[in-house]
Amino acid sequence: MGLDYDDQNIFARILRGEIPNDTVAENEHALAFRDIAPKSPSHVLVIPKGKYVSFDDFAANAPVEEIAGFMRLCAEVIAKEGVGLDGGRGFRAITNAGPDGVQEVPHFHLHIMGGRMMGPMVS
Ligand code: AMP
Repeated sequence: MGLDYDDQNIFARILRGEIPNDTVAENEHALAFRDIAPKSPSHVLVIPKGKYVSFDDFAANAPVEEIAGFMRLCAEVIAKEGVGLDGGRGFRAITNAGPDGVQEVPHFHLHIMGGRMMGPMVS
């Protein structure tokens, strides 16, 4: 069992097809779509299809098949966006968790951001 999960959070609604999204890639275990307020030329969110509140919830409680499916979709996004180190200039992958991490949407998501040089890792 994972953490208490809010079925009405916006990413749960995206997964149920109640809200549209700009899909970049999808597999059995995860969905990747463009952030609605991009902070970089390429800004994609990757979310598991399972109900996990945060990175720590996902890492501790998801079956390994789901973790593998999620990670492979991240790799697909990085390649599709052309930001990987195999020919691209790199990217930043971050996840916010809980109040101190300033997480807005309580469904685990990884931000994959690229297309410009990122600032230092402060604030
Ligand atoms: P976080 O603070 O890590 O929880 O970030 C949540 C992210 O979700 C923000 O970057 C928002 O711009 C993004 N977001 C919120 N609603 C949507 C939506 N409907 N479609 C795509 N991205 C969204």
